[in-house]
Amino acid sequence: MKLIDNWKQSYKLKSVQIGALSAFFYTLILFSEQFLNIWNVIPQELKNKIPENIAEWVGMLVGVAMVLARLKKQPELHDVNQFVTITAGHSNADPGAVNGKYKEADLVVSFRNAVTHYLREAGLQVKTDGTGTKNDPLSAAVKLIQGSSVAVEFHMNAATSKQANGIETIALPKDKKLAQDLSKAVADVFGSRLRGDNGWIDQSKSARGRLAYVNAGGLIVELGFISNDAELAAFNSKYWSAAKAVAQVIIEHEKALK
Ligand SMILES: [Zn+2]
Repeated sequence: MKLIDNWKQSYKLKSVQIGALSAFFYTLILFSEQFLNIWNVIPQELKNKIPENIAEWVGMLVGVAMVLARLKKQPELHDVNQFVTITAGHSNADPGAVNGKYKEADLVVSFRNAVTHYLREAGLQVKTDGTGTKNDPLSAAVKLIQGSSVAVEFHMNAATSKQANGIETIALPKDKKLAQDLSKAVADVFGSRLRGDNGWIDQSKSARGRLAYVNAGGLIVELGFISNDAELAAFNSKYWSAAKAVAQVIIEHEKALK
């Protein structure tokens, strides 16, 4: 009896110790991240002024902090074969729909860049149809789909009626739920309504007919109507928040695949 009690006692002690140890490391990792964030914004001229004997220590500290910061990033999403494809509709040669000085192709490029930013920040591998203002044509975008765990392209709708509004995602029936989640994420931020089946449009029911991007397994998110002034204004003022919400849906989707 005494033996078991002792064993229980020491077992308890061990788990407390392990708990404390992991809490300590977790704090250390968080501290390392903050330290690196600060270190990265210090101008090089200022860093050059640090005395050599101290600089050596700081250099070592930066090294250790980088290793520790990596430890936290690791458990997120790291499968080398897993990547997502994020593309912008139309191209540098084809502006898509236009409202005043705003061109669909430019707006969706900004959106693609913002979503990509948030996905990479979460540790995901992302393939895009260009960086910065570059926007490769559809034929190039479609080629990126193969092998990706999810492919999403952004567009904006346009209609003759200025009143036409709402968010929709065109996708194959297998991606119905993801399509609805993506549309909702955008609609919630822009304060828009959902079109189709709670934001999902089966491409067989789409007025545009079969779309090469969707046929290849991708999803097309229509981020509102560029022809509707209110939706265009909502896009321009809140697209970063909407992009963050879209990225979050994709991150959750990727986590569920693991
Ligand atoms: Zn379009």
